[in-house]
Amino acid sequence: MKRKVNYSVENRCVELLRRLRWPGGVKCPRCDGEHILEVGQMRTFPEHKRYYCSGCRYTFSDTSMTLFHGSRLPLSKWFDAIILGANGSSAMGIKKELHITYKAAWRIKHLMGEDSLVHEIRQRLLKKG
Ligand SMILES: [Zn+2]
Repeated sequence: MKRKVNYSVENRCVELLRRLRWPGGVKCPRCDGEHILEVGQMRTFPEHKRYYCSGCRYTFSDTSMTLFHGSRLPLSKWFDAIILGANGSSAMGIKKELHITYKAAWRIKHLMGEDSLVHEIRQRLLKKG
């Protein structure tokens, strides 16, 4: 079964995440190293790149060590949920709007609350209108 993801939107979301996480270029989330090689893409979401740190030999992705890591939802849905949450939507509202499970919506709603990266994303998305 193919995922129905809007690829150009997903690309823009990953790029935004990258800019916020690594304003000066990709860094290793484990050792902060800057000698990073791109080693392909994630199987689940081809827009998400995989990287290899030649400092500590850690392989990571655009979402490693963020709350988006390991999610089966594309970033674009997370970002939509962030906007909905900012506008006061409940988990039930997010579920209906994004056609995701209540469990996923609840998780998103509650994980987002205190996360500083989400805070930055929210500010950026709301500024764009
Ligand atoms: Zn490293």
